[in-house]
Amino acid sequence: MIRNLLRPNIAALTPYSTARDEYSGPIGIFLDANESPYDNGVNRYPDPHQARLKAVVSRLKGVPQRNLFLGNGSDEAIDLVYRLFCEPGRDNAVMIVPSYGMYGVAAAINDIAVRPVRLEADYSLDTDKLLSATDRRTKVMFLCSPNNPSGNAFPKSQLLDIVDVFPGIVVVDEAYVDFSDKGSLAADACRRDNLIVLQTLSKARAMAGLRIGMAVANEEIIRYMSRVKYPYNLSTAAMEKALELLRQPISDEVATIRSERARLAAALPAFPFVKTVYPSDANFLLVQVEDADGLYETLLQKGIIVRNRSRVPGCEGCLRLTVGLPRENDTLLQTLQAL
Ligand code: PMP
Repeated sequence: MIRNLLRPNIAALTPYSTARDEYSGPIGIFLDANESPYDNGVNRYPDPHQARLKAVVSRLKGVPQRNLFLGNGSDEAIDLVYRLFCEPGRDNAVMIVPSYGMYGVAAAINDIAVRPVRLEADYSLDTDKLLSATDRRTKVMFLCSPNNPSGNAFPKSQLLDIVDVFPGIVVVDEAYVDFSDKGSLAADACRRDNLIVLQTLSKARAMAGLRIGMAVANEEIIRYMSRVKYPYNLSTAAMEKALELLRQPISDEVATIRSERARLAAALPAFPFVKTVYPSDANFLLVQVEDADGLYETLLQKGIIVRNRSRVPGCEGCLRLTVGLPRENDTLLQTLQAL
């Protein structure tokens, strides 16, 4: 089934075979990869199959290793989806607006036309509107849940209905899923033909600097993503650090961010210049204010940097506030109080 959706050049690809693909046995004298023999901890190429990290992530996420792709941030997986399924200059991709900007940028880089579908005023998703934006050249659809920058997660049943009906690939980006009660589609992605779920270690797992993201999908899709990626797309340093940090639980941190999100959401409407605080299932709040540019500048002068989303279609007048540490959120509220 997936072969019908793949670009023919990808279906026919003979992937690069690394030295470590051809020999992965016990330690010996490695004279096969033109590496330096001088051991400084990183003189050898990393494992292109990322076996150790995959085993740990697989256990943590409850996803079999054969259904897991690890990439240089989830941004790598976004780019790979276009490269696998979309013919440059011919195919198109449907995406919701407002949403994460990289879906559109990666489409432009790959010369794929974008068909934007506006979310409703409350940032809910109209399935019929979404599907009517597709045509036979729509190979991929990008949905983000919880959605950046609106913060809301879409109902799982609605997302799965879309996966059932749309004949192309549906990508559901769950970068913020750890902050949500609405659940993940990762288990569904293992069983479906055309669903790819993206997650990342950058948000709740607090490793944005390591650049490790993941895709969950059926075995066949994962196999093709693995063939197309750079062979050594994750560095030894990043994988080692991730293995160390993944030993620590994050439940307390996530619980604090969620309770701080609730505290900010309750406090912000009291300010006269705050018009709307949108409900959030993520680690940020989208807030519509009287004068977004002015407030952005004022906060900047006080050393508080937020994201000005007021020029993004569908986010007019909005700032996006990431939930910080409790004392940072205190400072934000005190600063707003003093205006
Ligand atoms: N998806 C969404 C919705 C995001 O907001 C971001 C980063 N802001 C990403 C993906 C990229 O994540 P990564 O760091 O894994 O590339």
